[in-house]
Amino acid sequence: MEWELARTGGVAYWRMAAWESLGGVRARFFTRLGGSSRPPYDSLNFGFGSGDAIETVQDNRRRAAASFGRSLESWTFCHQVHGNRILSVSAADAGRGALGPHDILGEADGMVTREPGVVLAVLAADCVPVLLYAPDIGAVAAVHAGWRGTAVRVVEAAIGALVDWGAAADRMYGAIGPSIGPCCYEVDDRVRLAFDDHWTAVPEGVFVPNRPGHYTLDLWGANREILRQNGVPGERVAVLGVCTSCRPDVCYSHRRDRGVTGRMAAAVALVHGGPTSGTEG
Ligand SMILES: [Zn+2]
Repeated sequence: MEWELARTGGVAYWRMAAWESLGGVRARFFTRLGGSSRPPYDSLNFGFGSGDAIETVQDNRRRAAASFGRSLESWTFCHQVHGNRILSVSAADAGRGALGPHDILGEADGMVTREPGVVLAVLAADCVPVLLYAPDIGAVAAVHAGWRGTAVRVVEAAIGALVDWGAAADRMYGAIGPSIGPCCYEVDDRVRLAFDDHWTAVPEGVFVPNRPGHYTLDLWGANREILRQNGVPGERVAVLGVCTSCRPDVCYSHRRDRGVTGRMAAAVALVHGGPTSGTEG
């Protein structure tokens, strides 16, 4: 499944062209390019909590919303806390958290909706943004999965929420966006042990020992495995494979930039309500 780096009005993003060609969804992972923030937040910073000016972040969000083709007042954000809670988003929630943190949706790390009027957006700067699309029922999910969220299998919870609505996992699509890659992500035993409480077996290659008590962690592989274990076919899962730490030209990285950096957004929205036909392939 192909990824396409596209630009609209200076805003650069990876577009899920294969999904969008189905006609029912718009799904994009924004880069750091195309906003108005100054260093160290240059330039398309989405994060209100980052130390950047609130008016600048609002301006960045409006630019991204314009490139996405949906006004910012329809975008919805949740208060991300590195857990596995999923919120169901209704039309009445459109705009929650879009202009500031004061009216943001509750604590959660994933959102699902069947409403074409809302855009679901999650923020990350090393953590993994994951988007899901269930064309058979007309539903989407946006998920934020750092190491904690991956340990507690937040993507599984989002798949479960879509299945509860009647979606078939084997008709679902998954997209794993830019995050810190195994090339740059060393973790310690504390992280390794956190997986044991929620994973019956962590597949080989997710943690690779590199020095005593330390491992490289492959968050892409771990989340791809969660999708596989929950019945989403491998050919319907796209992994971008861009490491945020390796690519300062296009990505913020919390670890590389020692916490002083911006946040990128991943956004997904339905184009119309109900199922989309012709979804094979
Ligand atoms: Zn890297």
